[in-house]
Amino acid sequence: MKIAVLSGKGGTGKTTVSVNLAKAMGWSYIDCDVEEPNGFIFLKPNISKKMDVSILVPKIDEQKCIHCNKCVDICQFNALAGTNNGVLFFEKLCHGCGACTLICPVGAIEEVDRVIGKIEVGEDENISCMRGILNIGEPMATPIIKQLKKLNKEEDTIIDCSPGSSCTVVSAIEKIDYAVLVTEPTEFGLHDLKIAIQLMRQMNIPFGVIINRGDHKKDLIDRYCEGENINILGKIPFDKKVAVLYSKGKLLIDDLVYERKFKEIGQKIWEVGSCN
Ligand code: SF4
Ligand code: SF4
Repeated sequence: MKIAVLSGKGGTGKTTVSVNLAKAMGWSYIDCDVEEPNGFIFLKPNISKKMDVSILVPKIDEQKCIHCNKCVDICQFNALAGTNNGVLFFEKLCHGCGACTLICPVGAIEEVDRVIGKIEVGEDENISCMRGILNIGEPMATPIIKQLKKLNKEEDTIIDCSPGSSCTVVSAIEKIDYAVLVTEPTEFGLHDLKIAIQLMRQMNIPFGVIINRGDHKKDLIDRYCEGENINILGKIPFDKKVAVLYSKGKLLIDDLVYERKFKEIGQKIWEVGSCN
């Protein structure tokens, strides 16, 4: 089963939930939060493989170019600009779609690799782990996420998504079986949770909610989920022990109480997700 862990907003504890669930259940872990992958801080796997991720971008042969500007006109991302001195290429804007190469009437464009980041593969005791790292200043994360998902051969996997509900998240949750939405009992948390829920419903993905920093009392997230008939998978309390373990880069499941809690949550996900 492929399970994505998302949060409408940053700082809700998405990575904490992802790494602890993966370890507690023995599921493999993929960090698709490629702009800020921090799951390995807690899992500390032995890295066995590193590989670059590239996209294909155009390289224009000035000798062949007849300055027709057809490539400039077709580029939907403004990555090419026609000037008196030839065509200028802005590599960071290029999405590697290949349209300019196809349209060039004289074959003046060839496609070359441009490295945008890398992937690391490793093992942490009982689980396999992967993470993508987008190079600083690179705007396009989705090719790395797609490559990560393609490389993953494990059946049961936790996919740690980036926060929000942008195209990077959409790319990470394509073809998953179940989604875990991590939120916190604040107005901001609820606001962004609603956006994440909308995305799940649009993409027809079954999901449940984990409330981080919640307590035993009913909060605004409980009430909202009750009204919407949304499954609450569990709560992680506002506990100093959690903050201490987190600040030391340790897993919460190092504590027996939390190990039991994450196993219970994992079991629930397994049961609900398998029924869909
Ligand atoms: S590959 Fe696509 S995005 Fe890149 S320059 Fe060509 S047309 Fe524009
Ligand atoms: S389409 Fe080809 S020939 Fe025309 S401007 Fe672009 S590179 Fe030059």
